[in-house]
Amino acid sequence: MQRIEQSTLAATLIALTALAPAPAAARERSEVPEAYTWNLKELYPDEAAWEAARASLTARLPKLAAQKGHLGDSPAALLGALEAVSALRLDLERLYVYAETRNDEDTRQNRPRELKQGAQRLVVDLGSATSWIRPELLALDEAKVRGFLKQEPKLAPYRVFLEETLRYKPHTLSAAEEQISAMAGDLTGASRGTYGTLKDADLPYPTVKLSTGEVRLDPSAYTLQRASPVKADRDLTFEKFFGALKTYERTFGSTLDAHFKGHLFDAKVHKFGTTLEAALFESAIPTSVYTQLVSDVRRSLPTLHRFLKLRQRMLGLPQLAYQDLYVPTVGKVDLTFTPDQARAETLEAVAPLGKAYQDGLKKGFESRWTDFLPSTGKRPGAYSTGVFGVHPYQLLNYNGQYDDVSTLAHESGHSMHTALSYARQPYQTSDYPIFVAEVASTLNENLLLHHMLGKAKDDTTRLALLGNALDNMRTTLFRQTLFADFELQAHQLVEQGEPVTGERLSALYLKILREYYGHAQGVCRIDDLMAIEWAYIPHFYSNYYVYQYATSLVASTSIARAIREEAKAGKAKARDAYLTLLSSGSSKLPIDLLKDAGVDMTTSKPFDAAIAEMNAIMDDMEKILAKQPKAAK
Ligand SMILES: [Zn+2]
Repeated sequence: MQRIEQSTLAATLIALTALAPAPAAARERSEVPEAYTWNLKELYPDEAAWEAARASLTARLPKLAAQKGHLGDSPAALLGALEAVSALRLDLERLYVYAETRNDEDTRQNRPRELKQGAQRLVVDLGSATSWIRPELLALDEAKVRGFLKQEPKLAPYRVFLEETLRYKPHTLSAAEEQISAMAGDLTGASRGTYGTLKDADLPYPTVKLSTGEVRLDPSAYTLQRASPVKADRDLTFEKFFGALKTYERTFGSTLDAHFKGHLFDAKVHKFGTTLEAALFESAIPTSVYTQLVSDVRRSLPTLHRFLKLRQRMLGLPQLAYQDLYVPTVGKVDLTFTPDQARAETLEAVAPLGKAYQDGLKKGFESRWTDFLPSTGKRPGAYSTGVFGVHPYQLLNYNGQYDDVSTLAHESGHSMHTALSYARQPYQTSDYPIFVAEVASTLNENLLLHHMLGKAKDDTTRLALLGNALDNMRTTLFRQTLFADFELQAHQLVEQGEPVTGERLSALYLKILREYYGHAQGVCRIDDLMAIEWAYIPHFYSNYYVYQYATSLVASTSIARAIREEAKAGKAKARDAYLTLLSSGSSKLPIDLLKDAGVDMTTSKPFDAAIAEMNAIMDDMEKILAKQPKAAK
């Protein structure tokens, strides 16, 4: 279930990049005008139709077993099995998306929750019914499979799937060994659960007295309070929250050590040289892309330091400390937009992508792809999903702020990526890989920023927009890469057989943190206690995942810059290359998809373009600040 897994991953990405608090929804769903709701009737006219489709799917599942052991019989046999699975998947995706979207409309309702549980059961059932296909394919001779591809033209849509499966051949063991390895995975995966239980439930978080009142400093209160404009409050927040984590440093250390040892076990068993190689193999990303990102960021630390000095100046602090990185420097963008205005701004912002893109998005806005407004019980946050043969769907909790318009642009980027891939690809390759997914969304955010800058009437708005973009680059480019750097070095300790304790991890984290933030040069003071921050980051349990936040922003910033510059000169080469990416789904490997779009992620060129954009933003901000020194407080 590639599509469903990806939607979940995309949702995780959204959760990390847009940590917005759930809006206060006072409205019942029945009060929301229909034009602002999505049209799920295009999936099924009613629940009875959904039930009928589910019954049909359930009845077809056991029939797959008849094809077991026959994939290698003939090209026709292989085609028959793959077509049967493909049809089941397509039907399941429709069932699943309907159940999930219905459930998200109002999570308090019982019936939609039952639908969702039913769909989840089907995902598991389809997984079991098809679990033999991969090992059976891997046991076939590669030349034979490629021969089948030549003989049977109807296998063409399955070429990517077949080649991707065969790519694993050197890393696949016998059936019995794979079974043992999977069972071991259940054991090594347990530490992630222990970590979550300790951090999110059992850890006795302290109650502190801030100037605004008493607060229990759990992780969600921490993310709120660390942005306090009162310095004493944020200093106390860091001291108490990190102090509480520090009490369990040894336990956090042992869960992360056990988790990384699991990665090492898996890498060794499947004949990979390193844990990094094993993790990046799935998307066929060369390990050099990862290590180059880290070295590109390290050589660009002067740009981060320039940002930190600018922040210090805007906050008017004699010395910047790690506790001062989340307090807003210029306040929010003081603009509000109705949903119709938000749609109009987004459509204008994507003009550099051409009329066809604009028209496609306009059609989406007009034909109820989007569930726009918050209401009681609705799932918080935002996401984009879709069903092949229908269209994308997106969920928002639109509240009228600039951030909400930015979220609309972001999700619309995903949705147009989906729509264009649906239009140009067969179902089998219509799904795009996670490595490129966040390029399409963050590129639209970039276009929106420049569109809004172009029409901003005053310097305060301009400053707020630029400050917003800059904070995003600090947290995505530098902070996520810092995590990636730590993740790699900590894994290397495990690979070298070094003892990995909480104390050791803290020492490593503090060293890296101080290097990045220029502690020794006096740019940003990093207190000893900040060493424990690694224990707060759940993504270290996601196996070399976070670097993709940085690479996505690098790629989208670089492409958007080229598109904007060309648009001014009346050219469209970069735009057309980018549109090719959007309509290519997963027909190529992620690195090649991006190469076609004009960004070669195996070089430093896209990264340098992103850093140039960050410096250009700071140039603009400094010009504005020079004009109005008093506003800089
Ligand atoms: Zn996204």
